[in-house]
Amino acid sequence: MRIAIAEFKQETNSFVPFTTTVKTFEDQYLYRGDDILTAFGNARLEVPGALDACREAGATPLPLLATMAMASGTVERKSFDTLMNEIVERLRAVLPVDGVFLALHGAMILEDEPDAEAEIVRRVRAELKPGTPITVSLDLHGHITAAMLQPDVAYIGYREFPHIDMYETGYRCTKLLIDWINGKVKPVMALSKRHMVFSPDSARTTTPPLSDIVAEGRAMEARGEVLHVSLFPVQPWIDTPDLGFAALVCGEDQQQAQVAADKLAKMAWDRRAEFEPDVTPLDEIIRIGLSSPGLTVASDSGDTPSGGAAADSTAVLAGLLAAGADRADRISICTICDAEAAVEAAKAGVGKTITLAVGHKRSGLGDPLTVTGKVKTISDGQYVLEGPGGNGMVGEMGLTIVLAIGSIRLNLRSIPHFEWDLGIHKSVGLDPAAAALVFVRSPSHFRVSYTPIAARIFLADTPGPTCVNMRRIPFTKVTRPFYPLDLAND
Ligand SMILES: [Zn+2]
Repeated sequence: MRIAIAEFKQETNSFVPFTTTVKTFEDQYLYRGDDILTAFGNARLEVPGALDACREAGATPLPLLATMAMASGTVERKSFDTLMNEIVERLRAVLPVDGVFLALHGAMILEDEPDAEAEIVRRVRAELKPGTPITVSLDLHGHITAAMLQPDVAYIGYREFPHIDMYETGYRCTKLLIDWINGKVKPVMALSKRHMVFSPDSARTTTPPLSDIVAEGRAMEARGEVLHVSLFPVQPWIDTPDLGFAALVCGEDQQQAQVAADKLAKMAWDRRAEFEPDVTPLDEIIRIGLSSPGLTVASDSGDTPSGGAAADSTAVLAGLLAAGADRADRISICTICDAEAAVEAAKAGVGKTITLAVGHKRSGLGDPLTVTGKVKTISDGQYVLEGPGGNGMVGEMGLTIVLAIGSIRLNLRSIPHFEWDLGIHKSVGLDPAAAALVFVRSPSHFRVSYTPIAARIFLADTPGPTCVNMRRIPFTKVTRPFYPLDLAND
């Protein structure tokens, strides 16, 4: 049995002004051909799961190309075609095949095509004999469309958020493909959607209301009514028609699968008000932080790099200055990603007081903010992640400066790396536990590292391309009416 395998994943954020190119993919990884058999090492991702399923079944895996980009802007058409054409050429070179496994995200948007996954599947199918099955794994934040439901294609999404089951999803998908090729199953797909979005922080599979809907899906599988239930609360920062919650069911009976999908989508719709995130105005958080004992931690949720943002918003720093945090007794810590300003500060040298314009350069969210401060430290920005999940991995912030603006400590770095670990501050001589306030650009994962040292934690209602207040997102293309923009909770 010959199974072609390809991965092509990117999560688009429509609200950032920069595009995604081949280089954005290469920056993460881009593997080709048989290198894919060993390239992932022990990483528990979709492709290793698919390879293990092939090995167990005695099938021959034919790896074509495997690549992913960090969440980022709309994908440039030329770059998409470069990678897609290579997948197609490599597929042609290994034909005939009995089936194809694709690891996709689901929320990739191209400059001229809002549904990249439908196009990827269409172009792969065009190379195959009719009836050749394709299975596709998807991220739970994928944007699922009717155009993706093509003949001889089945989809399975991640079951978990926070995402811990990429390997299992790749394995499950490839197992389904092998059973399909062997004639043990004949999958059909049913989709049910509701035009609504939630902040990802309030749509975790581990907490209600989503966990209750997940449990119902698992029960449907256990009762043998359907093969696989996938729920897609979708990531909200894409501006595209038909955006919304999707229940996608893989079964063997079309009508039964549709009944299941409709029931799950209705459950989510009925409980939509429970998905509201608990956000607090920025000025209120700063007031509480400066006047309360212990450490106050807040997520600058509007500008998080894990959602594709540039991490260069000045909202928090401006808020701290407006509230007089620079004259406070205790320190406040915040970050801005601005490579240009970091170079300028490094040129001045440690101990020097400088005036420079920081932020908003890559995002174009507004004008840079001019600040005066003393250069405390200069580092290469390499640090060891110390929190659970980090496992001693090395993180890269690029050239990183700590600028003291009175009692404010601005961690000015060059690369928009994840911000959830304490190591990003400790590595440059800052002690988050001793601060009055620490702002992190992380939507929810920061809670793992900060809960043990924080007296209180807030989600700040800040602007930007990863805003968690759905009413603030400047949608123009979503299908109306749309919750929560147009519709009340009941
Ligand atoms: Zn996701």
